[in-house]
Amino acid sequence: MGATQQPPTTINRVALVTGAAQGIGRATALRLAADGLDVAVADLPVKADALTKVAEEIRGLGCKALALIADVSKEDQVKAMVEATVSGLGRLDVMVANAGVAKAAAIGVMDAEMEDWEETWDVNIRGTILCYKYAARQMVKQNIRGRIIGASSICGLRGYAGMGGYCISKAAVRSLTQSMALELRQHGITVNAYAPGVIETNMTAMDVDKQHGPGFGVKSLLKVTEFRTGKPEDVANIVSFLASSDAHFVTGQTISVDDGVHFA
Ligand code: NAD
Repeated sequence: MGATQQPPTTINRVALVTGAAQGIGRATALRLAADGLDVAVADLPVKADALTKVAEEIRGLGCKALALIADVSKEDQVKAMVEATVSGLGRLDVMVANAGVAKAAAIGVMDAEMEDWEETWDVNIRGTILCYKYAARQMVKQNIRGRIIGASSICGLRGYAGMGGYCISKAAVRSLTQSMALELRQHGITVNAYAPGVIETNMTAMDVDKQHGPGFGVKSLLKVTEFRTGKPEDVANIVSFLASSDAHFVTGQTISVDDGVHFA
């Protein structure tokens, strides 16, 4: 694999980013567009307006864009999302399974309501599996050196007290990424994940942050207040590399982007 094995320059590579209406997904979609890829962005119906704006921003960068409504926890919707990307933009080269939730975070195992945790697992685990599955099928069909990238977390690299439900889901993304990387090696498709520390997005916005700065509340929960809070663009930089031809020798990895909270 290498730069020469990417599609000819006349064919634009196409990325699909889920959870792209805001936060890390939005920054990633814009970064991939800045890198020259055409980008399909997907999110829930409630985010339709924000998603349309992201698609407009991508077009403003001179790339094609498609805004798709899809709930990643629903298999028929993920399948349709991938099909719509291919029919609208011609192909699929890069899948970024970014959509995720942290419902009922900060609840200890003894107090856990399974229904609450299962909601998180439906999106973070089931949703990521489905995105990997249908992206891989499409990439194998196209016979291309595709890139599949998922959203893990520092919470996927070790357990945190009171964060079990979310930690389980992000450890599952790391494990899935390893298995899938081995399955897809024969096709020249790489599968990697990013493991952000605390990033300034809606997910980490808490009332306590207003007094101490973005991300402070979550960093307090995780007992990592000495580390900086990152920006969505800090994560998008890593995704940009993993999506590039230069990353052809990297697969099965979950890459920390966390100001040094965890070492591999
Ligand atoms: P965010 O809450 O700002 O954005 C997440 C997006 O995903 C939202 O637009 C939301 O509508 C969408 N989404 C939620 N459920 C969905 C579903 N079922 N189908 C489709 N879209 C859905 O979050 P973020 O901080 O940008 O996080 C992005 C990813 O990074 C998540 O997987 C998150 O777990 C992970 N992450 C975030 C941080 C952080 O500090 N912000 C740290 C580590 C990992």
